[in-house]
Amino acid sequence: MPHQPITVSGVEVTPLCDAVGPMGAAIRRPLAEMFPGSGLRDEPWVLHFHCYLLRTAAGRLTLVDTGIGGADSPASSWAPVPGTLAGELAAVGVAPAEIDTVVLTHLHSDHASGVVTDGRPAFENARHVLQQAELDAAQGPALDRLVTPIKGQLHVVEGQAEIAPGVHVHLAPGHTPGHQIVRAGDVAMTGDLVLHPVQLEDPGVRYLYDDDQEAAARTRAEVLGALRAEGAILATAHFSEPFLRL
Ligand SMILES: [Zn+2]
Ligand SMILES: [Zn+2]
Repeated sequence: MPHQPITVSGVEVTPLCDAVGPMGAAIRRPLAEMFPGSGLRDEPWVLHFHCYLLRTAAGRLTLVDTGIGGADSPASSWAPVPGTLAGELAAVGVAPAEIDTVVLTHLHSDHASGVVTDGRPAFENARHVLQQAELDAAQGPALDRLVTPIKGQLHVVEGQAEIAPGVHVHLAPGHTPGHQIVRAGDVAMTGDLVLHPVQLEDPGVRYLYDDDQEAAARTRAEVLGALRAEGAILATAHFSEPFLRL
């Protein structure tokens, strides 16, 4: 079921819960290895996989991230596929063809695999917003199975851009080269800027699967510092509670 929505600056933000589960054995490590230096004890780590639906007052629909995809998705080696994004959208009365804009925070398989259904674009009428640096770095299954089928629908941006009225993207690199976050009013949808709450206490705690751990830590500290200064609401991909006021 979708989590409770909130409305900020006239934009309704609904967290869609694509899946809940632990990482599969292919990439699971003890938490102290996933987050070196964190001091975390080795407990099971159960992730939520959140996408966010934004609805402006004029009814324009933006989807932030597309989840883990179907049973055959590139995420199937490690994530609890199939994702339930289509059902989550249906639960809030939205058909995939009604989505105007899809934002991909980055091309990892648990954020981007839902762009296709059976190899065809899942959101046939949507432009898909991606940072140039993320597109440039795309390779392997992310390129062949996710980007190529939506090539004609890509809207490539660099840095900051307004992608719908009152909805902005900002480049926040490190986790991946072209990782971006999304702002709507007070809410910041931060993709994989922060993976675990321990990184809120200490943004310097590294994450094993950040592409560039140094850059990711630097970006995390900068962005969290700025969000905290304005008292923003963090909307994370993987925490169990989707919203957190900083
Ligand atoms: Zn959830
Ligand atoms: Zn990621």
